[in-house]
Amino acid sequence: MTITDMPSTTTWNAAYWNSRLSSRAQIMTASAIREILKITQEPDVISFAGGLPAPELFPLDAMKQAFTTVMEKYGPAALQYSTTEGHLPLREWIGRQSNIPPQNVQIMTGSQQGLDLLGKVLISEGDVVLVESPTYLGALQSFQPYLPHYVEMPTDEQGIDVDALETLLKTTPAKLLYAVPNFQNPTGRTLSLERRKRLVELTDRYGVMVIEDDPYGKLRFTGSELPSLYQIALERAGGDPDQVNVIYSSSFSKTLAPGLRDAWVQAAMPIIQKLIQAKQGADLHTPTLNQMMIAELLDDTLPRQIEIVKKAYGERAQQMLAQIGQHFPEGAQHTVPQGGMFLWVTLPEGVNTTALLSKAVERKVAYVPGSPFYALGGGENTLRLSYSNATPEQIERGMRALGETFTEALG
Ligand code: PMP
Repeated sequence: MTITDMPSTTTWNAAYWNSRLSSRAQIMTASAIREILKITQEPDVISFAGGLPAPELFPLDAMKQAFTTVMEKYGPAALQYSTTEGHLPLREWIGRQSNIPPQNVQIMTGSQQGLDLLGKVLISEGDVVLVESPTYLGALQSFQPYLPHYVEMPTDEQGIDVDALETLLKTTPAKLLYAVPNFQNPTGRTLSLERRKRLVELTDRYGVMVIEDDPYGKLRFTGSELPSLYQIALERAGGDPDQVNVIYSSSFSKTLAPGLRDAWVQAAMPIIQKLIQAKQGADLHTPTLNQMMIAELLDDTLPRQIEIVKKAYGERAQQMLAQIGQHFPEGAQHTVPQGGMFLWVTLPEGVNTTALLSKAVERKVAYVPGSPFYALGGGENTLRLSYSNATPEQIERGMRALGETFTEALG
């Protein structure tokens, strides 16, 4: 008898594969944005959809130089396994920016990993997680497998409505609050200083942990810098990083390059210790070489890069806003970002931006429909536009086409 005389009795269909998956995997869904990006990646479509940094601004020469320096300075150690916590000079530098010791800084393989591991160590099934309405879709995706109970916080032009938050906290036993206070993804909005202070005070009073996700904070092109929730909480704690309820997350993705997958979390030691254990199980550590290269770029290239990127994104945002003024129909409202990569458009009730996307793609322009950014659904008349990865000529052509699409839909 040969092996082929024993045919498989399995029916290799979707039901079979589904039954083999964990209940956790069964509730995972493909990111709506990734699916949309596939449609919009044809070369002649102008895409305002993906949240991609401008590749022509990546510091290629400085990266080459940093690679050579690291090879000469560290030799084989740059290619060896290293500590889960991360490269010490990098953590020391990050710590110095907030006046905290490196022990309170954990390097992550992208802040997306930070969100996943924070979900893993903080969320039990049914825990109430407060999210902005709308919020960063990638955070919803990271948290979802840990089965949170999402409650949406109302927002307006200045970010989270803290009065509404207080009302919510009085009646809702929330465990965690997730927020993007600077130039939020997807809306581009910024939480005002007054509201930041209230939010820190309220979450402290009601015993709610906060995840402050801040990948865009350094990319402010208008207005003045505001203290992070973390800084406010740290100040309230007299500078003791182990007495803050805010967990701060940021990244080198938007300032240096996303392909490096290098980011960090700052938090109180009990949280950091759990993150280290979770990260050991996830990937042992963030690539040694990448961390060492970034450490070489912190004093010179990083500040220069931030200026270059801010200037370019500020110009692109300005241009996109001007084009909105020229081409969008009355009744299309939009945010005015002070930094970052996105702005948010709200069309009149009844217009469905998911259905409208194919009309836009026919005119060779794409955006992301807004509804996937709402944890509890809704927002069918909203959409996100990214200006970071488009040339002036593309912005002009694309926004005219989008204006035509919306005018037709509203007419
Ligand atoms: N948080 C927010 C709000 C984001 O917009 C992004 C990137 N789209 C991330 C986290 C993930 O960034 P990264 O993993 O590249 O650091």
